[in-house]
Amino acid sequence: MKTQIAPVRTSTQRADAIEAAVYLLTGGYPVALPTETVYGLAAWALNPEAVFRIFNAKERPRFDPLIVHLPSLDWLTNLCVIPNEDLNLVQELTKQFWPGPLTLVLPRKPIVPDVVTAGLDTVAVRISAQPLFKEIIEGFGQPLAAPSANRFGRISPTTAAHVFDELSGRIHLIVDDGPCEIGVESTIVMPSKGVLWVMRDGPVTRRQLWDFAEVKTSPRKKLPQGPGQLKSHYAPRTPLTLLPRDAVPLPAGKGPVGLLAWCSPPQEKGFAHVEILSRTGNYQEAASTLFAKLRILDSMGMNRIIAESVSEEGLGIAIMDRLRKASGNG
Ligand code: AMP
Ligand code: MG
Repeated sequence: MKTQIAPVRTSTQRADAIEAAVYLLTGGYPVALPTETVYGLAAWALNPEAVFRIFNAKERPRFDPLIVHLPSLDWLTNLCVIPNEDLNLVQELTKQFWPGPLTLVLPRKPIVPDVVTAGLDTVAVRISAQPLFKEIIEGFGQPLAAPSANRFGRISPTTAAHVFDELSGRIHLIVDDGPCEIGVESTIVMPSKGVLWVMRDGPVTRRQLWDFAEVKTSPRKKLPQGPGQLKSHYAPRTPLTLLPRDAVPLPAGKGPVGLLAWCSPPQEKGFAHVEILSRTGNYQEAASTLFAKLRILDSMGMNRIIAESVSEEGLGIAIMDRLRKASGNG
């Protein structure tokens, strides 16, 4: 199969890309689409054949459930049962954060195929704010299952070129709308009896969530076999060492060593290559380029990548979570 990359620079290209994407989705084929977080591999969530094709293209194990994107808020109650006690909380969260990078895990209705949820009695849902994604899902008019468009266990893609590197020959179409704005995957929370259980840290921060309810870390997050929580997740092929906070990075060991620095170049000159997350110490900038910089370092034939720690506040929590996973200690 030949993988086409559809650009959307002109209005004609944009219209053509939307038409081609909707055509493939309707036929039950997955299409790589940009979201505001990372590129997703989207397919018709209510069609099990289509969802199987996502798992096959990604080589993703069937026990890892997918996030379902909704075309509109009306769809929420088509797919989920919201317990009365959590109704207000869910309404407040969707009002504040949707469309946007917050995924809610809620009890599911039977209409959601087992393959989407890996047999769980809950389903993870969100509405994307990416304008092109919105146009495509609204044009399609059905929910889309859309995990990140990478092979299982690899770094999430934030450009169409990253998706091509991961899935070329395995899917028909990648819609290219440039680099993703946010760059790290959505925050996942499960509202339950008035508590927000965080299953994955992300762009919507714990501090923001505290305005709505008590926030706790989901015990599922800590299980090594828990969905999406495998240690190899987000891993570069090159071994990565995450330095403790304020440790001085040294290019120790044999062979070339690369450095993923936080905001300033290292004192030590011995690194074969250095990428800096944000020269101004800006978390948004750091998050949006984190995966692209990891990919650059991973492609350079280094013996090791050393990554500096980031302060764990706000978006820094999500960045550190991804760096720990990249180091094999997620
Ligand atoms: P992604 O690969 O970004 O699509 O993320 C999918 C992740 O969402 C999974 O690996 C899980 O961690 C989480 N997830 C999806 N569905 C559920 C669910 N029903 N219950 C708990 N976590 C879920
Ligand atoms: Mg993923």
